[in-house]
Amino acid sequence: MHAVSMLDQALTRLDEAARHLNLDADVLEKLKYPRETTKVRLMIRMDDGSRKSFMAWRCRYDDTRGPTKGGIRFHPDSTIEEVETLAFWMTFKCAVMNLPYGGGKGAVQVDPHTLSKAEMERLSRAYVQAFSKIIGPDRDIPAPDVYTNSMIMGWMADEYASIVGEATPAVITGKPIALGGSLGREDATARGGFYLVQRLAKELGLEAGARVVIQGFGNAGQHIARLLASDGYKIVAVSDSKGAIHSPTGLDIEKLLAAKKQGSVTSLAGSDGISTLSADDLISVDCDLLVPAALEDMIHKDNAAGVKASVVLELANGPVTPEADEILASRNIVVLPDILANAGGVTVSYFEWVQNRQGYYWPVEDVHARLKSMMEREGDAIWALAQEKGISLRSAAYVHALSRLAGAIEAHGTQQFFTT
Ligand code: GLU
Repeated sequence: MHAVSMLDQALTRLDEAARHLNLDADVLEKLKYPRETTKVRLMIRMDDGSRKSFMAWRCRYDDTRGPTKGGIRFHPDSTIEEVETLAFWMTFKCAVMNLPYGGGKGAVQVDPHTLSKAEMERLSRAYVQAFSKIIGPDRDIPAPDVYTNSMIMGWMADEYASIVGEATPAVITGKPIALGGSLGREDATARGGFYLVQRLAKELGLEAGARVVIQGFGNAGQHIARLLASDGYKIVAVSDSKGAIHSPTGLDIEKLLAAKKQGSVTSLAGSDGISTLSADDLISVDCDLLVPAALEDMIHKDNAAGVKASVVLELANGPVTPEADEILASRNIVVLPDILANAGGVTVSYFEWVQNRQGYYWPVEDVHARLKSMMEREGDAIWALAQEKGISLRSAAYVHALSRLAGAIEAHGTQQFFTT
């Protein structure tokens, strides 16, 4: 539990960014609260004939810059507060990348590992039935998040099409390629972070052979491991929900991916000089680049002092608490902040939405090239802003995003406009 609410904690970043800009009061009033959060109890028929219900939410935090955008997660610990906080982060993430979107997020409070495949399909379709008036290609566009994937997006798109009576692929992104998904969406979150690291490697002091620790081995964790390994980085420790493993001489990426496919990376322990570790010890493994790619609050005030890496790449949303942020900054550890570092996912979601609306599909090379240039453009701008103002990259990313959000909010007229 959070002593200060999770959303209030996230909003401290907004207040901090606002101090660097000369903003109309309207801007903060607009961004301080989630605009609309809908809560539904989903009911599905289980395989054994019983009925079961699950709490579900969808938050549209702010839509000043366009329809709201953000994933849907299936997780047993999801709460309304978490959904609203994640939707707040999406608002800033889309503004960081200059995507024509506001921010949203959804969740179902469920442990997906306890459901059969048929139950998963019924739950996914039930979500869309419940929220069919909230979502829409010009209103609110979901996508995958923790424990949801392209197949689930395909079921959801199909359910939406049958409700509205016409194929509407742009209502949701991260779909299977065969159902209107974009090439390059699957690894886009990791790839965006990878392009950012490549771009800033010199400034960050990351050299060939740099050692990497990855926390979480889902979509983002697996793809960043593959991309970094193929670029000469050495993956020395990895964790998943079952535990963590460590090999100072480096883990074999193919073996990691195969072990994960069978269940867990921990099955590799005991051979090739690979040992097991506790989840918390993973954070303090000696390395150059630490990649949190799991859930929120993983680096906190009690373990931040143990971080050995010189750079943290936040592929998860909110993995570093504000208290930990200060500890890392005081130790000169550079954090590449989530709203920039993991924005590759939503950026290629945007490409998918554009392709769906045009009915014209791009080769993967075009997806990669456009993603790379957008990550570099916004990464360079945020790096320069941080240097110029002497602030952290996180603060700079918030300032960068807030100035775009403020531009849109103030374009409707400010207090000064209406009173003079
Ligand atoms: N769930 C991802 C995120 O947190 C992707 C969102 C999207 O593609 O809309 O950024």
